[in-house]
Amino acid sequence: MAIGKVYLVGAGPGDPELLTIKGRKRLMEADVVLFDRLLDSRMLDGVKGELIDVGKNAGRHKLKQEEINQLLVEKAKEGKIVVRLKGGDPYLFGRGGEEAIACRDWGIPFEVVPGVTSAIAAPELAGIPVTHRKVASALTIVTGHEEPGKDSPLDWRAMAGLDGTLVVLMGVSRLEENTNRLIEAGKSPQTPAAMVEKGGWPDQRLISGTLGDIAERAKEENVQSPAILVVGDVVRLAEVLAPERIAILRPAGQQEESVELAERYGFIPLSAPAIALERNPLPEDLQERIAAAECVAFTSANGVHIALGNKAISGALAAKKIVSIGPKTKQALNEYDIQSEMPESYSSEGLERMLKGRYKSILFLRSAQGSQYLSDGLREAGIVVDDIPLYGVVNSSDPRLDRLIERAGEVDIFAFTSSSTARNLLERARAMGREEQLREALARATVAAIGKPTAQELSRLGVAVDVIPENFTFEAMLAALVGRKRSSGNAASMAKDRMEL
Ligand code: SAH
Repeated sequence: MAIGKVYLVGAGPGDPELLTIKGRKRLMEADVVLFDRLLDSRMLDGVKGELIDVGKNAGRHKLKQEEINQLLVEKAKEGKIVVRLKGGDPYLFGRGGEEAIACRDWGIPFEVVPGVTSAIAAPELAGIPVTHRKVASALTIVTGHEEPGKDSPLDWRAMAGLDGTLVVLMGVSRLEENTNRLIEAGKSPQTPAAMVEKGGWPDQRLISGTLGDIAERAKEENVQSPAILVVGDVVRLAEVLAPERIAILRPAGQQEESVELAERYGFIPLSAPAIALERNPLPEDLQERIAAAECVAFTSANGVHIALGNKAISGALAAKKIVSIGPKTKQALNEYDIQSEMPESYSSEGLERMLKGRYKSILFLRSAQGSQYLSDGLREAGIVVDDIPLYGVVNSSDPRLDRLIERAGEVDIFAFTSSSTARNLLERARAMGREEQLREALARATVAAIGKPTAQELSRLGVAVDVIPENFTFEAMLAALVGRKRSSGNAASMAKDRMEL
């Protein structure tokens, strides 16, 4: 029988897309795959070979290294193509070398497929380049968890004297011990330091501080393995380079589209519907009221879909003048082949300016919470205003909202798309007994309001608003957020002055 082969494949830091093309190919060809518990299960999608979890698993003990080596050799001897899938890169603190030597010793052909190492990728994905011109020209990677009794223990004194960046893997359990050693050996406790937890995973976290306080901060934040300690001035760059988490508070039906947009603008979206929409029963005199109005105005895509989904309304709208408040509403109408006029500026004010002097009567088909300000302004200008509330905004009981409130401290940006999202977020936090924490998080984060009425409501609720886009669309709000100056500290100026970015 022909002998098999062992591939030692680096899986990368966790995101299945960070597995190399070669690694993926080998996985698909494998008869057997030996993997560890930390891997994202999607990494194994479509794999046809036998799957063996050699990491700790429910009810099963973790295989010892010798047992893994043995299993690799045995399977290959049976003539099988064996993939040993290992986190990050196989030869960096992964005991891949030992597995390769076992193959060598038993005369089993083997090949190593390098992987994206977490030592570089985890800080990188959290916004920390491990080297940067004039800031760090060297990178030292060490293990924070040495086997006791090892012949050549790590020389922390020498490491304290090194310039550049220090990355400590397996750094969680002995974090305090290791940072103390560095300080005792003369490294300044003021040196910037950070923990990157689960780099490249959907719930990746960055906890920043200094060498002197990072152990305490990590404990407060309950940092768990896998995590990496990064020590050095490069940590400051995360203040400008870290991807930002944006809380998207729109109703469930708009989440998918908004999440996609937020990702395209470079944010990490956190879906948390703070409101839900509920249809109202339609009034019996609906047809007559539509007929009586000179024009019909829509102020949201939601309103359009509800109205046009109803035969009575869509029939009555034929041959009516239609007005839309902005491009999203107009686009929704286009889907039903309905042309509409749109103001130059997408806001209540813009709409008012456009309508004045052009129409004598207008009917709004919109949400029950529609802006009173708009109708009042039009009435003052002598226009007859009618208003049919098609749907109402109600508090959302989405579990994603509760989860966001629990983790409010991790949110970098809160994006408010209506007054009701602001009210309901605070109300829900109050009901959960977390209003104070939420308010602290709001004070620390960037708060964006889609338009003036939303900003006014936020101020009334005691929340300071940082960003209002010029055009009141969700996309314009994202663009304004990307364009704003970041960082309260001086990392940006440090980046410019010292680093000549
Ligand atoms: N060979 C691996 C490292 C194995 S040692 C590599 O090249 O990445 C395991 C250690 O790697 C963990 O204790 C942790 O410090 C680090 N690690 C692995 N994946 C990580 C991730 N996604 N985020 C942060 N640290 C990670």
